[in-house]
Amino acid sequence: MLGLYIHVPFCSAICNYCNFNRGLFDADLKARYVEALVAEIEQAGLKACATSDGDVLVADTIYFGGGTPSLLEPEEIARIIEACTSSFDVADDREVTLEANPESVTQARLAAFRTAGVNRLSFGVQSLNDAELQRLSRLHSAARARDAVAEARAAGFDNVSIDLMMWLPGQRTSDWLATVDGAIALAPDHVSLYLLEVYPNAPLKEVMARAHWSQAPDDDAAAMYTTAMERLEDAGLRQYEISNVARPGRQSRHNLKYWTDGEWLGFGCGAHSTREGVRWKNVSATEDYIERISRRASPAVDVRRLSPDERLGDALFTGLRLVDGIDLNAIDIRYGVDVWARFGGELQSFVDAGCLRHEGDGLRLTREGMLIAHEVMAVFV
Ligand code: SF4
Repeated sequence: MLGLYIHVPFCSAICNYCNFNRGLFDADLKARYVEALVAEIEQAGLKACATSDGDVLVADTIYFGGGTPSLLEPEEIARIIEACTSSFDVADDREVTLEANPESVTQARLAAFRTAGVNRLSFGVQSLNDAELQRLSRLHSAARARDAVAEARAAGFDNVSIDLMMWLPGQRTSDWLATVDGAIALAPDHVSLYLLEVYPNAPLKEVMARAHWSQAPDDDAAAMYTTAMERLEDAGLRQYEISNVARPGRQSRHNLKYWTDGEWLGFGCGAHSTREGVRWKNVSATEDYIERISRRASPAVDVRRLSPDERLGDALFTGLRLVDGIDLNAIDIRYGVDVWARFGGELQSFVDAGCLRHEGDGLRLTREGMLIAHEVMAVFV
């Protein structure tokens, strides 16, 4: 089944490390953008019907990502979900995720999002240390993040995820583990751990230089990751992907499509789509996107049919992110390629080093292997 991704490119302030497709919130622009989103979703539904013998495409996940989707009004979220359900055949047991920043919600607002059809929240908590949050120029405090999770529970959400960032400037291992323990105390259903990447032109880079903050050595970062995973697993959150842990049955169904060779349609500026071996990307600039939709022109700017080797490479590259790894037999059936015969020579050294396991038809990274995942995956691309 398809995943539907909706991009919301607005933020109340721009964080000093951010490299996403986003801009400052503007109420007028947001209202026009929501209209464009609804129109794009409806046009895509009609187009899919016209090109697949009148069949309505079936979807089972809707994911609002950003930016800060929780800056939209609950009525706007409801309208967009309604556009999805009227344009596609969306499964009754759909997963509908809203990314939310802690400072942008109240219990009443969260309850209204739930009424609108959202059934999963993903909070951008990042840290439970106020000094670290300020260093990242985030607008919320640790207390606000804790309150937001409590408000979500009180509003009836039984599927709450938390994003955390590690390897922050000036962060010691003990600081990071205090955030991890604080997150565990909030009893989330799902946690995503991201390593901070400081891009060459990120304002944070200058801030770090002025304040003489640096990121911990690589070995410490590896220990931060490994220890965090152990603590999260001890708390009942099983790792299922390099950066993600979840309680049983609470894995992100939407994100799993990206890692299991699935298909998805992306709506909004800069959104990516992959379907039937074709990948495309919408124009990035918000105004350009609205303008194209208003004259019923396609917002896609980069449409590419993937070669068989690219599709295979992507399936292997993303599949290896999963703790369960890749089913080589399934790959052989789908792509007609004996992966071990083609890549085994290069992969054997990773097996010998204890970074990769090749057992029967399974191929998976060990936790040590996850620390050097990019080196292993480079074999496939
Ligand atoms: S809230 Fe998220 S998307 Fe917005 S600027 Fe900060 S990091 Fe970027």
